[in-house]
Amino acid sequence: MSIRILTIEDDERIRTAVRFALEDEGWSVLEAETGEQALEGFNSMAPDLVLVDIGLPGIDGFEVCRELRRGSDVPIIMVTARDDTHDVVAGLEAGADDYVTKPIAPKELSARIRALLRRVKPEDASAAPRTVGDLEIIPDEGVVRKNGEEIHLTKTEFHLLCELSDQLGKVLSREHLLEEVWGYDYFGDGRLVDVHVRRLRTKVEPDPAHPRHVVTVRGMGYKLQA
Ligand code: CA
Repeated sequence: MSIRILTIEDDERIRTAVRFALEDEGWSVLEAETGEQALEGFNSMAPDLVLVDIGLPGIDGFEVCRELRRGSDVPIIMVTARDDTHDVVAGLEAGADDYVTKPIAPKELSARIRALLRRVKPEDASAAPRTVGDLEIIPDEGVVRKNGEEIHLTKTEFHLLCELSDQLGKVLSREHLLEEVWGYDYFGDGRLVDVHVRRLRTKVEPDPAHPRHVVTVRGMGYKLQA
């Protein structure tokens, strides 16, 4: 069955252009003109990935993202009108895995979708379970436990944690993490890493304001420690 991508965009011209670009890649395209429509039909449409515009007539793209994240870890790409730090960070904090800016470059969009779909696949099954302080990470099952209780991470957060735990105690640069987790070697953006680290901390840290496990090493990157 082909990959199904839900596009949420009120501008018909853009929606159509995106549909052509995605169909060209062999993906099936589902469409919604408003966030309300998308949320209502989300379960029956069961998309493999969601592309959501921030600027929508009713509830905006941020709200759509937050609503979807309440019950789903479907990969989400946010579409922003410009490369505005506030919008990008707010989108990622709302739960998006990645973002693209308008005007949408079809090749870049396809590359980002492909990278994100790759991430959805389970980790290397040979990766052994590991314990980091009060955290237990089981890569091939996609499970993380904190003090014995399972916690829910999105696929991107999970891959980020696995990557950091693969090299426990070692500082990994943003560039390295972008390459390993997002699969980007040239159009990466450190904000993707920073916001995902913040999101990860809210879930795995005893006190997210004073991280004990996912530590920032100023000017160098991040490391995971017990
Ligand atoms: Ca719009």
